[in-house]
Amino acid sequence: MTSPARLAPQRPEATPVTRQNSTTSAVAALLDNHSALDYERAMIDTVVRVSQTMSDCTTPFSGITPERLSRSVAQIDLDRPVGDIPAALRELDQTYLRDAVYFHHPRYLAHLNCPVLIPAVVADAVATAVNSSLDTWDQSAGGTLMERRLIEWTAGRIGFGPDADGIFTSGGTQSNLHALYLAREHTLSRHAPDDARRADALSRLRIFTSTDSHFSVRTAARMLGLSRHAVVALDVDDERRMSVADLQIRLAECRRDGLIPMAVVATAGTTDFGVIDRLHPIADVCTDAGDVWLHVDGAYGGGLLVSPTRRAMLSGAERAHSMTIDFHKSFFQPVAASALIVRDHTFMDHARHHADYLNPERMARAGIPNQVDKSLQTTRRFDALKLWFTLRVLGADAIGELFDAVIDLADEAWSMIEDDRRFEVSAKSDLSTVVFRYRADDSVSPEHIDAANLHARQALSASGAALVASTTVDGATYLKFTLLNPRTTPGDIREVVDLIADHCVDYLADVTDCRVAG
Ligand SMILES: *Cc1c(COP(=O)(O)O)cnc(C)c1O
Repeated sequence: MTSPARLAPQRPEATPVTRQNSTTSAVAALLDNHSALDYERAMIDTVVRVSQTMSDCTTPFSGITPERLSRSVAQIDLDRPVGDIPAALRELDQTYLRDAVYFHHPRYLAHLNCPVLIPAVVADAVATAVNSSLDTWDQSAGGTLMERRLIEWTAGRIGFGPDADGIFTSGGTQSNLHALYLAREHTLSRHAPDDARRADALSRLRIFTSTDSHFSVRTAARMLGLSRHAVVALDVDDERRMSVADLQIRLAECRRDGLIPMAVVATAGTTDFGVIDRLHPIADVCTDAGDVWLHVDGAYGGGLLVSPTRRAMLSGAERAHSMTIDFHKSFFQPVAASALIVRDHTFMDHARHHADYLNPERMARAGIPNQVDKSLQTTRRFDALKLWFTLRVLGADAIGELFDAVIDLADEAWSMIEDDRRFEVSAKSDLSTVVFRYRADDSVSPEHIDAANLHARQALSASGAALVASTTVDGATYLKFTLLNPRTTPGDIREVVDLIADHCVDYLADVTDCRVAG
């Protein structure tokens, strides 16, 4: 059948899914060629509702407590459907939309979440409706080829050669796990080619990464069956970059103790400080140590690949064996969209499995492009489509310019807070975080200052006025802005900083009163 005939419109009257007919004809609610009009109407109603909610949103959060919201959620009788989409949407307002955390609000300054680009949102709706599964060619066709083009495109941006490959994943956590799995197998294939020596070698594998790297590196090590001591936490220097000197020392110790370096994980944009490890010197050390697997965790800083002005900050990543990129952070894509990219496609073979029912070897021999051959997932969403569509509508520079804008904003915010005597700032970010804390005079105990900062975070969230994050730096509590919204202005930052100071002053006044009264 030719494509036009296949897609010829067949549009019977819309059949509203109502309470009356829902149980007898749930089949009417299946998205198919009989329900095209219902689909259109439902999508339009829903989009109108969501767009109203998002444009009416005056604060990033309502401040609702888990107790209150859990009452609304618990009240819902999941065995008694409301019967139509408008009614379910009204109900959804109560359990979700009204009190959701809105990342598009300019005073959402907390975690690595971004406002999302409209072309990406549209494309995600397409991927959901068509519902391709990217595991095999015979469940996706064009989707498979488009994902492969995007892997090539990303690898090209990294500077990997024509042998590169990779796969879309659910996020940086999975990309890092996958990379370390490949590194484990790669290393074992060199040190313990036969099964007899494998268990012994496994217990001697070591991963080198800075104290500031993402926790998923540690979780991955545990999942991969490595020793409890497998992750060697390297010091960071004054700028909070991995100490290359410490890396050299610890690698030498590793060899001396008869242990096996499995991987070095450099971070291109630490989650807390947005700091990029020195990639060239680290790559040199890996090469000198016998070509140790270098993984670059660019979950956060990956957006620099499209930055018109800051691309050079990732120089050296092209020397890695593997790299994690989270499109759902610095590429302004909806969750989930991430990729693991490797310099040499043969590395991906470590995850290959041929199932007779799905991707038998004869298909690989026949050149059928089955992505499941290199994925840790089987059924898998067409998450690549949103990035594809964004590139087709807006182009890469436009994405990079958005990331540049928030890095510039973080620069300005850092200087603003550094100049403000009420605060102290931590190491300056290469990307878009600002880590700082309210400080009081010497008469206030460190515990009270920590508590005041946490109180300010909590009070801001409870009022809904702004959302900020917190972390600890050398044992002290700090607050953190992660700026990923190009619409956030220096004025927003100023207002939030003043609110934080006010909350801290109030809190410290209260504890001082208590002390006097007590
Ligand atoms: C966010 C982040 C991760 C984890 O990525 P997810 O997409 O949240 O799973 C890993 N590494 C770094 C440096 C990150 O910032």
